[in-house]
Amino acid sequence: MTDQRERSLPESSQSRSSRRAFLSASAAVAATPVLGRAAHAAGLRGQHPDHELRSLLREIDPHRIGATVARLAAFGTRHTLSSQDDPERGIGAARDWIHEQFRRYAAESGGRMTVELQSYIQPPASRIPEPTRITNVVATLHGEGDPGRVYVVTGHYDSRASDVMDATSDAPGADDDASGVAAIMEVARVMATRRTEATIVFAAVAGEEQGLYGSDYLARQFKDAGTDVQAMFSNDIVGTGDAHDGTAADPRTVRLFVEGVPTSETPAQATTRQSVGGENDGPSRQLGRFVRDVAENPQTGMKVRVVWRRDRYLRGSDHISFLLRGYPAARFTEPRENFAHEHQDVRVENGVQYGDLVRFCDFWYIARVARVNAAALWSLAQAPGTPKGVVIDTTRLTNDTTLRWQPSTAADLAEYEVVWRETTAPDWQHVLPVGNVTTVTIDLSKDNVFFGVRAVDRAGHRSPVAAPIPG
Ligand SMILES: [Zn+2]
Repeated sequence: MTDQRERSLPESSQSRSSRRAFLSASAAVAATPVLGRAAHAAGLRGQHPDHELRSLLREIDPHRIGATVARLAAFGTRHTLSSQDDPERGIGAARDWIHEQFRRYAAESGGRMTVELQSYIQPPASRIPEPTRITNVVATLHGEGDPGRVYVVTGHYDSRASDVMDATSDAPGADDDASGVAAIMEVARVMATRRTEATIVFAAVAGEEQGLYGSDYLARQFKDAGTDVQAMFSNDIVGTGDAHDGTAADPRTVRLFVEGVPTSETPAQATTRQSVGGENDGPSRQLGRFVRDVAENPQTGMKVRVVWRRDRYLRGSDHISFLLRGYPAARFTEPRENFAHEHQDVRVENGVQYGDLVRFCDFWYIARVARVNAAALWSLAQAPGTPKGVVIDTTRLTNDTTLRWQPSTAADLAEYEVVWRETTAPDWQHVLPVGNVTTVTIDLSKDNVFFGVRAVDRAGHRSPVAAPIPG
């Protein structure tokens, strides 16, 4: 609630202080856009879904999602060490079924979506007793304007029982994580028929329960190829807003875990952070702010509860594989979990039903989480990329602030916006449109606030914010 008030209340004061800052800005930007101030300031209060996004959100179908969750659970177990060639039971059958569905979606894409089985042999390692083939099922929707800019979304299709090495007992894995796989498959289906500027990769990954093996391989392929992955989301345990434990259901909330200090931080970056702060301005934190801006709206019907930690206590997920490689990444999870329904053999004990069963999932909830993902991915892919090379000038001591950045390559770029906030504020409080420039001086002390820069296209799509580094 605090955040909502923060973002909606200060519009008039924002406009006033924005104009004041603007009017005293350097000659580099003076005399340009005083017009449109109110509309731009409204950008801080969330970005409305464009027409195409509203249309695709309506196509997300809870019945299809329910059928996918039920089908995946019906493979009995999808344990990473289970059978790879039994046509009915085990991870191989699940792999082939997901592959076939992706191929059907791709057939409707006019050649824009391609599908592959990305496979390797994992040598013996923790929770992998013998060489094991691990296969990610990957559908890529190739962008048309800026195909080298990539966004990745995953769910993991492997499952587990109480004993993480038990490859034979039933492990339906409905919530963990058929729900995440069903969500990303449905988003892939509705996006396959549409044109995007950037590339979106939908990956059903394996080996998560054994130690994030599939996503580690996926992230490594991107890193080794020098791929510009600008955001990644793991959907893991997104099956229900009802914990079935007697507490009130919360069916309109999804949690988004975003780390602060980057997992990949170098000693030099740590030194900078220790001197001037920035622990709340890493790229994953900016991604969290972006998701809430574009995905909390009547069309998704969801509140995104951003949690400022990498993951829950004692737990992890596939976003960590991307964080380790320096890619911005975050994890979606349901609002409150029932641990009798995760990582448990299916059984009844003292009248309590254990096990990750389909009946504990809410397909309408999963559909809303899919809509949140779709809103985030579509808004990322249609906007300009996150500004690069953003620097705050520290060559001399001044009481103003000069920012520089590299020009965007977006063909439909309109301009840039500088945002800032009090150092103690969680979210951006002020926005100043500065035109299509690559440097600006603002009459505010860099010592007293945090700044960021984002790019805006002609349709009003805004990129995530990039925080400047001293230079
Ligand atoms: Zn999981």
